[in-house]
Amino acid sequence: MKSIKHVVIAGGGTAGWITAALLNKVLGKVINITLIESSSIGTVGVGEATIPPIISLNNALGINEKEFINETNATIKLGIEFENWKKPTHSYMHAFGPIGKDFPFCDFYNFWLKGRITGCEDDLWDFSLNYQAAKQHKFAPLNTIPNTQLPGLSYAYHFDATLYAEYLKKLAISRGVKHIDAKISEVTQCLATGNVETLILDDNKQINGDLFIDCTGLRALLIEKTLNTGFVDWSHYLPCDSAIAVQTKSNDELKPYTQSIAHSAGWQWQIPLQSRIGNGLVYCSRYLSDEDAKALLLNNLPADPITEPRFIKFKTGRRVKQWHKNVVAVGLSSGFLEPLESTSIHLIQSAVTRLIKLFPHHGISDALASEFNKQSVTEIEHMRDFIILHYKLTERGDSAFWRQCKQMEIPDSLAHKLSLFKHTGKVVRENDELFAEVAWQQVFIGQGLIPDDYNSIVDSLSSEQLNDLFSTLKTLITSTVEQLPTHKDFLKEIKKA
Ligand code: FAD
Repeated sequence: MKSIKHVVIAGGGTAGWITAALLNKVLGKVINITLIESSSIGTVGVGEATIPPIISLNNALGINEKEFINETNATIKLGIEFENWKKPTHSYMHAFGPIGKDFPFCDFYNFWLKGRITGCEDDLWDFSLNYQAAKQHKFAPLNTIPNTQLPGLSYAYHFDATLYAEYLKKLAISRGVKHIDAKISEVTQCLATGNVETLILDDNKQINGDLFIDCTGLRALLIEKTLNTGFVDWSHYLPCDSAIAVQTKSNDELKPYTQSIAHSAGWQWQIPLQSRIGNGLVYCSRYLSDEDAKALLLNNLPADPITEPRFIKFKTGRRVKQWHKNVVAVGLSSGFLEPLESTSIHLIQSAVTRLIKLFPHHGISDALASEFNKQSVTEIEHMRDFIILHYKLTERGDSAFWRQCKQMEIPDSLAHKLSLFKHTGKVVRENDELFAEVAWQQVFIGQGLIPDDYNSIVDSLSSEQLNDLFSTLKTLITSTVEQLPTHKDFLKEIKKA
């Protein structure tokens, strides 16, 4: 087997530059990396909301948080608010971090479930530090609630996707990644194996490599256009196939959370950055024309637009194999899940981490590739199920789109999770899946599914003890949030640093 020394990354969007920076950081002494991107083609230019594991990516890359926030116009994200998903005018949040205080063998929300039965009127989110801080637009890095062992705030970022890719590009190039700005016009393959051999550029330069990473976005130039790897279509579960993105001026609020606002045939995102707000509408073209979608978005913006609306078409699903022959697909080339839970950038991070762990230093073997593919499928199917849940559990019947979502068949894996929760109140996190129990609980309960039962461990507390627990937690959360600076002030301090 041919040892792998030269890695070529095709594409320089968020996927290309995360891949280049992380591979270089970990394996830079044993492989050399070339990244080819075409500034004339550009990037998809969206992808601005993240989830907390981004912090470990930045740490692994040795990124200074203050510099990163300033360079990418970033803001803090404490969760995602879902408006009109259960029904019009209703909202709930998937807040990051824990809720209340978990007990051994028993998650906190079981106590809350029992409390509801015994007359307690507290909302589940009264016990979420993240939610309370988010709604009051407050933030400071806080590992624990002061003077307690209880976890503090869990956060991620909103950032300008173009500036983030630029930031990683500078970092990767300064650490030795070779960069070529040119269009790949042809791809040659070995006749015997079908492996990709050479990328031919529009200036006729030829770039050879041992392993190719396809980061060419929705074009999927190597994994699909060259290797015809195939696609598993999930549009029967997630029928949205279009998006429009537009940027607006900032408003005064600077919310430290993403908003996802459901409309008649899709949903709208609002992502506040320091310099502007990223907005868009994800919709299903079967129920909403492009023209009507554009009008809907433009009529519901939080401030004046500063860019022309841009349409993006996509198909939800995954590549049959993310690693095929000597090509590994990372980013949009590997598949697409709508950005409802901001999972795409995380999928890039975890694909590169997986590649590093399974890196074929001594040659590509079927065993390595199939292990990589198996793990990738498990990961993305869990995320798919979590996203479908938001649609499936709607109570909306006001449009054909929502009626279809409510009635659709769902994957067996999700049907099992739903039934388990409904009948027993339990959520079981499988195979290290990304979203923790508390995330599933919030979406189940937020969308109106209250389970028939709770964990009987709770009955070991008397109702007085239960009330004490609730009031102690609420007091702690309220006083902690009171003492936090505003999100705006936190960012102002970072600017000064
Ligand atoms: P791209 O950004 O499209 O980059 C492709 C690269 O390949 C470019 O550099 C291009 O120049 C290059 N290229 C293509 N063809 C050639 C060629 N022939 N020669 C040379 N170079 C070539 N993710 C999140 O995590 N959070 C979000 O909030 C979020 N929101 C999204 C909203 C929408 C509407 C969409 C569509 C996606 C969203 N995503 C989000 C996903 C996120 O945008 C992507 O995961 C991320 O930007 C990575 O994209 P990419 O690098 O794979 O592709």
